[in-house]
Amino acid sequence: MSFEIDQNKLSRSGFDFIDEERLHGLLDLRIEPGQLDEVIAKSLSKQPLSVDETAVLLAADRPEMVEKIFDAARRLKRDVYGKRIVLFAPLYVGNECTNDCRYCAFRRSNREAVRRTLDGEEIRQQVLALERKGHKRLVLVFGEHPRYDAEFIADCVRHVYSTAIGHGEIRRINVNAAPLDHDGYLTVKEAGIGTYQIFQETYHHGTFRRVHPADTRKGNYLWRLDGVSRAMEAECDDVGIGALFGLYDWRFEVLGLVGHALHLQKHYNVGPHTISFPRLRPAQGVELDETHLVGDEDFKRLVAVLRLAVPYTGMILTAREPAEVRRAVLGFGVSQIDAGSRIELGGYTEAGDAQVMEREQFSLGDIRSLDEVMRELLVDGYIPSFCTACYRLGRTGEHFMEFAIPGFIRNFCTPNALTTLMEYLVDYASPETRAAGEEAILRAVQNLPEGERKRQLMDRLRRIAEGDERDLYL
Ligand code: SAM
Ligand code: SF4
Repeated sequence: MSFEIDQNKLSRSGFDFIDEERLHGLLDLRIEPGQLDEVIAKSLSKQPLSVDETAVLLAADRPEMVEKIFDAARRLKRDVYGKRIVLFAPLYVGNECTNDCRYCAFRRSNREAVRRTLDGEEIRQQVLALERKGHKRLVLVFGEHPRYDAEFIADCVRHVYSTAIGHGEIRRINVNAAPLDHDGYLTVKEAGIGTYQIFQETYHHGTFRRVHPADTRKGNYLWRLDGVSRAMEAECDDVGIGALFGLYDWRFEVLGLVGHALHLQKHYNVGPHTISFPRLRPAQGVELDETHLVGDEDFKRLVAVLRLAVPYTGMILTAREPAEVRRAVLGFGVSQIDAGSRIELGGYTEAGDAQVMEREQFSLGDIRSLDEVMRELLVDGYIPSFCTACYRLGRTGEHFMEFAIPGFIRNFCTPNALTTLMEYLVDYASPETRAAGEEAILRAVQNLPEGERKRQLMDRLRRIAEGDERDLYL
């Protein structure tokens, strides 16, 4: 029996807009001389690319062309996001799941998985552990199960926000969970969530059916594809989309993601807040079909192409990737990473440094501490940021896009990144990281133009370093 959807519960843009034949046709594209430069120039002028233009970037596979794409992605990242990298941590709340996704250790047919749902006190303990490390932004992750309905997710969110210790507090909570209906999104929005993330996993219908059995909720392609549209209609105007790379041809998935972003832009006047591009990882009891696994070189290409296609969309790179890969692709356009992550249920207080396969969804590639990752970022010239100002000032969705304009970053994002970095250095950093961070702040402040904004920033940095004031955002 397949999971039926009530057509009345779909969004007003709820139809299957993934035209597979057309996307496959685009993958056979041969590019004319000059076409690549034209598309790159459009992207560097910060205009989103069409699916056809994105296909030009995907067809450009000669080494000198790929280098051009990498250079352009680096430039665009610098121009739009500056050197900031936003940090967050995942918090797995429960791994009960009624779905049977072939690639995931939480699938219902995996009898070896240790099933667990954190209760209020356990969530509190995990959050305290994260706050003691310096985290300010979390993504709460859930399996798909009747227990984890909108009310439950909203309760978890409220629980996390109300847990604080010393200067530690969580200021933004994103959610990665099953698609909800309109009422469900209203409920979680009311609890104060940031981004609601739903990954389509694969935009290819045949593959989607193969890895998601029809008798599961996740087996319904359209219900999932439409998930973030319903969110947008129900006041969750910050949504995240994603594809699980390795299930099907990576170039097809890039076109699917760009098509999805454009669909949202067309119908809701705003694209997704973030795009995620997890690569398939080994997981308990999962035999990976290697046909479409994405190698490191292609992974770099897909990150760079996505960057150029959606200039204003945040791009999330997770600790699924090993440290070296993370370091290599950061410059191509990533804007957010997680660090110090543990994805076992209760992993922040119970697992120590080891990864326990029976308890996690897949194995992580980068399990370094937050402090180590912060230090590497600083040494490599980035400014790690815990800023949450836009969302707290209502600069989200369409309004966020108004702000993503030249000057905004210099006036708001950079100062806010620096004050949150200063908080981290003063409250949580090791002496080495603190030294590297203070040097980075000094350099960044020197580079800012003289004026009122710079004076305000210097005053705030001093108040944080010398006193007890925190959360001083612009
Ligand atoms: N259960 C919800 C769902 O499936 O939408 C919430 C998210 S799930 C816990 C988080 C994401 O992990 C999935 O959307 C999928 O992309 C990813 N994932 C699952 N198995 C994976 C694996 N073996 N390697 C890498 N990522 C995986
Ligand atoms: Fe469940 Fe999500 Fe894993 Fe699928 S990916 S089995 S829905 S936790």
